[in-house]
Amino acid sequence: MPESPYLVIHPERVRRNYRALDAALSTGDGAATRIRFAVKASPVPEIVRLLDEEGAEFDVASIGEIDLCLGLGVSPQRLCYGNPIKKTAHIARAYALGVRRYAFDTEDDLLRIAEHAPGSEVECRFLASAPESRTPFGTKFGCSPGEAFRLLVRARDLGLVVAGPYFHVGSQQLDPTAWRIGIEQAGRIAEALADKDIAVNSVNIGGGLPISYADPAPALGEIAAVVKHAAAEFLSGATGLVVEPGRALVGSAGTIHAEVVGVRTAPDGRRWVYLDIGRYNGMAETENEYIAYRFVTDRDGDPVDEAVVAGPTCDGDDVLYQRTRVLLPTTLRAGDRVRILDTGAYTASYSSVSFNGFPPLTVHVSGAERE
Ligand SMILES: *Cc1c(COP(=O)(O)O)cnc(C)c1O
Repeated sequence: MPESPYLVIHPERVRRNYRALDAALSTGDGAATRIRFAVKASPVPEIVRLLDEEGAEFDVASIGEIDLCLGLGVSPQRLCYGNPIKKTAHIARAYALGVRRYAFDTEDDLLRIAEHAPGSEVECRFLASAPESRTPFGTKFGCSPGEAFRLLVRARDLGLVVAGPYFHVGSQQLDPTAWRIGIEQAGRIAEALADKDIAVNSVNIGGGLPISYADPAPALGEIAAVVKHAAAEFLSGATGLVVEPGRALVGSAGTIHAEVVGVRTAPDGRRWVYLDIGRYNGMAETENEYIAYRFVTDRDGDPVDEAVVAGPTCDGDDVLYQRTRVLLPTTLRAGDRVRILDTGAYTASYSSVSFNGFPPLTVHVSGAERE
């Protein structure tokens, strides 16, 4: 066995998750729901190939992710360059590679797409008035719904193909009504576009589908029911849905294997358990204690007590949980193995050398000249 920490991914679990989502969202009548995997959640070649076989599309955020998918044989027609933040040169490069679908949320980006990816299909991301998710985007992305309408009209006038409005309710969204709110707002944008003779062919309802960690998440069926009801109520029958899951496809397919490096009682009396994995080598989503992972140890069954759980680095912020109540066996000691469940999403990709396909920071050592 390799030295811990390491992540084990079960691709067949990803396939099951994909098929379950497909079944849950298919309506039997009306336009189809397309599933677009957000590559950043787990850019693992076996997963990309498997989902390609299953018929998925791919949400890519950078040239790195586009190259990854194309290198694995994915057709560029299956890709959507969904990151609203992109350089002109990267739009041109994506277009040269055959990518014909883009998302945007500003007029600037729209104009660049029109110039460097002419004739492409576009989605406009608006900021839905949905409740906050566990790992919220805040206001980093998305224009107002009124601006989305205006920009999609502009897109048509610039010779682009309008796909439709697009929203993302925030990752690990635990409130199903978030999608209802987003779909209602998207429906209003679509109606206003219809008045301008622009037929929306799809509404992108983004990612955010949650999975259960220490706190249970609503079942997929519950969210799917809300989505289907809202689509029937607020969208025309000809409008398809696009869903962009990351976490929901890959989260449950991974387990991290880690080890206890040490256990200590701090001067204030609290017990600290130090693992060989922390915020900087895989557990990035414990920032702000957003995601409460479940731990399994070989001593489960022994008496338990509260513990602060920390990573191995010399950084004071490398603490996984100090406010969340984590109960671990009192007998736990250095060398014990710990498994961290449902860690297939946003773990290895954050700690990889090029998260989201953006290359790591390069280091240049300057010469002797003084600044
Ligand atoms: C990250 C991301 C997703 C996936 O989000 P999940 O919460 O993992 O489902 C979908 N779409 C876009 C544009 C993203 O950036």
